[in-house]
Amino acid sequence: MNIFKSLYCRVFQFGFKIAIPLMPYRNPRILNSLDDVPDVFKTKGIDNVLLVTDRKIRNLGLTKRLEDRLKKKGIKLSVYDEVSANPTTEQVYEARDLYIKKKCQALIGFGGGSSMDCAKAVGALIAYPGRTLDRLGGILKVMRKTPLIIAVPTTAGTGSETTLAAVVVDRAKRHKYALMSFPLIPSYAVLDPETTRTLPPAMTAGTGMDVLVHATEAYIGRSTTPLTRKEALKAIHLLFNNLTKAYTNGNNMEARRSMLRASFLAGHAFTVSYVGYCHAVSHALGGRYNLPHGQTNAILIPYVLEGYGAAIYPKLKDLAMAAGLASYDTDEAEAAKRYIKAIRALNAKMKIPDKIAELKREDIDELAERADREANPVYPVPVLMDKEQLKGFLYDVLPDDDKPIRRLIKMQPQKIRNKKKAILLAIGGMKILKRRKK
Ligand SMILES: [Zn+2]
Repeated sequence: MNIFKSLYCRVFQFGFKIAIPLMPYRNPRILNSLDDVPDVFKTKGIDNVLLVTDRKIRNLGLTKRLEDRLKKKGIKLSVYDEVSANPTTEQVYEARDLYIKKKCQALIGFGGGSSMDCAKAVGALIAYPGRTLDRLGGILKVMRKTPLIIAVPTTAGTGSETTLAAVVVDRAKRHKYALMSFPLIPSYAVLDPETTRTLPPAMTAGTGMDVLVHATEAYIGRSTTPLTRKEALKAIHLLFNNLTKAYTNGNNMEARRSMLRASFLAGHAFTVSYVGYCHAVSHALGGRYNLPHGQTNAILIPYVLEGYGAAIYPKLKDLAMAAGLASYDTDEAEAAKRYIKAIRALNAKMKIPDKIAELKREDIDELAERADREANPVYPVPVLMDKEQLKGFLYDVLPDDDKPIRRLIKMQPQKIRNKKKAILLAIGGMKILKRRKK
């Protein structure tokens, strides 16, 4: 990245960092059981709510317990269960229309990140009648109070139950974008492991690795606070002790509860301290090919951490220690290597591939541009990279049969590229001299 853009990014990020204590960050109140939800509405005088979920979750019977409890307490319930894996703008508008038609007073987002994000985006539209979603997309565009939002995660991963973000997909433009505003932080989060019991192993794996990426990117970034560093380390500790247990035995409720806790902690850590290039590239890929977010992140993260190089070794050592992979005596480079290796081992154990099968070489330029636009200047990444450098990560995850023969200079940090250029120039110069001598 050129010096002027780097300077602009760092000044921008510094402005946001010093503003952290002034920002109205808040944590949702935690409810440990679905059974506590009706009382929250009762005490607030709410008797008509919209449940936003997806059909699969409803067919599995996961929402039934809550639906029954609400009815028993005399709370009227309307259900929108059309949310897809990545919520589309059409779905948000449909749910909003239902909310208005049924004269609802509050929202429950019940499901993975998609359902919770959809409910949060509906909340934004209710706060701003007449505004379109794209006008509410971006940072701090929603300033008005939304209706009460209760988030019920059925995966341990997105952290959407604690974040200020709601990600939506504009299918017509094939574009994924986020609404990021404080009123979108749900008022309550229900961390009830029973809701994650039937989550299939592949989903447990992908969403769990998303927790790892949230905690890791938040921790290695430049906008951490003592609290977010603590949260990220705790999340990593819980994850390395519980993810594979929850993956191999979905009925292990202790592991499930710990993963929900890890997801919540990592979610709060990244909502204050941001994510990094892994998420930016992952969002670009997810928007283009409709891929599951957690798995795309899991595939990208080892390459992104390697791409940052020695600049993040000290922080990766802290993470490696939290994961139980290193001690105080371990060399920083060695600890960093172990951490990245352990991520690859987790992926392999949970059958997550290391390439993105859907990725096409001809799309790389556009995807890198989108990632660059999302990340720079907002994300306080440890090493700044421009579009050309971000392409490197896409080449890393390109299926081997679609890879160019070999890139002469792989996209790497500027210093290394300059060194390689100098070596190549020197070799070229020597050849010319030899020819002259002849
Ligand atoms: Zn994520």
